[in-house]
Amino acid sequence: MHKTDRIYVAGHRGMVGSAVVRALNAAGYANLVTRTHKELNLLDPAAVRAFYADEKPDVAVICAARVGGIGANSSGNATFLYENALIAMNTVMGAYEAGVKRLLFLGSTCIYPRMAPQPIPESALLTSPLEKTNEGYALAKIAGLKLCEFLRRDKGVVYHSLMPTNLYGTGDNYDVVGGHVLPTMIRKFETARVKGDATVPLWGTGTPLREFLHVDDLAAACLFVLEMENPPDLVNVGSGVEITIRELAEKIKAATGCPAAISWDSTKPDGTPRKLCDTSLIRSLGWSPKISLEDGLARTIAEYRASVAAGTVRL
Ligand code: GDP
Repeated sequence: MHKTDRIYVAGHRGMVGSAVVRALNAAGYANLVTRTHKELNLLDPAAVRAFYADEKPDVAVICAARVGGIGANSSGNATFLYENALIAMNTVMGAYEAGVKRLLFLGSTCIYPRMAPQPIPESALLTSPLEKTNEGYALAKIAGLKLCEFLRRDKGVVYHSLMPTNLYGTGDNYDVVGGHVLPTMIRKFETARVKGDATVPLWGTGTPLREFLHVDDLAAACLFVLEMENPPDLVNVGSGVEITIRELAEKIKAATGCPAAISWDSTKPDGTPRKLCDTSLIRSLGWSPKISLEDGLARTIAEYRASVAAGTVRL
């Protein structure tokens, strides 16, 4: 990738896409192409084709997706499959048809089987059944990464994928119904602290294990693989540190200074019991994460408070 390359970042307003844009700008890549959802509907193949024909990017980074936490996914598998499959097919095949030589496709480690060996290596893909709560999303992302792999193998374009673990950070979704666990917990503890609530209701049993990565670390990993001449088809990105949901809750409770007690609602799903990705491949290539969970949490809570004070995010 060259500094003058025209780089299309799909989904630049989302948490991942905006972090990728910041990282590209900071590294001196100034020739970026973006479109808002309103300007370009990625579900529409003709519109995506016309966009690529007009803009002729050299590189595409596909960060656009319908994403959500366990609540949104488990009640919306059809929509998560349909929309993410269309976004993947249109953005990847559209890029190929327009002559885009280089493309990075982003997914998530939920593409791996529910009972994959832990930590999960890239080779665990398609070895046993998926976790049911986010099966739709996972199937769409598997289709996307396979399309990249087939185009690379059969047509010679360098299309490759990164699978990040659970992400958090700047620009996250703080919706308590549809959001992921970490931002949702920040909001719940902050709301309880400010309102003086006695308890904070959390989901499941608190026993599942999860790994969290700050989105700026992911953006750095994106740049890292994009700058490789011959990157592997599929690479995991994670922090390598896993904690229980209960430990995460205790950390966020302490970091927000909320005195409320935690109550666990075991009628809500736990999801997959453990999801730690094996990051030995990306580490062996020379990349490692820089932002600890403690630092990332402190930063994210400060940003959340600033957004609430500015009125851009609701308490
Ligand atoms: P997942 O990693 O794909 O399962 O998605 P999430 O980030 O939404 O959830 C991770 C885990 O956090 C699950 O075990 C949830 O039961 C648990 N959890 C606890 N409280 C909450 C909450 O308030 N919201 C969400 N989304 N998850 C929660």
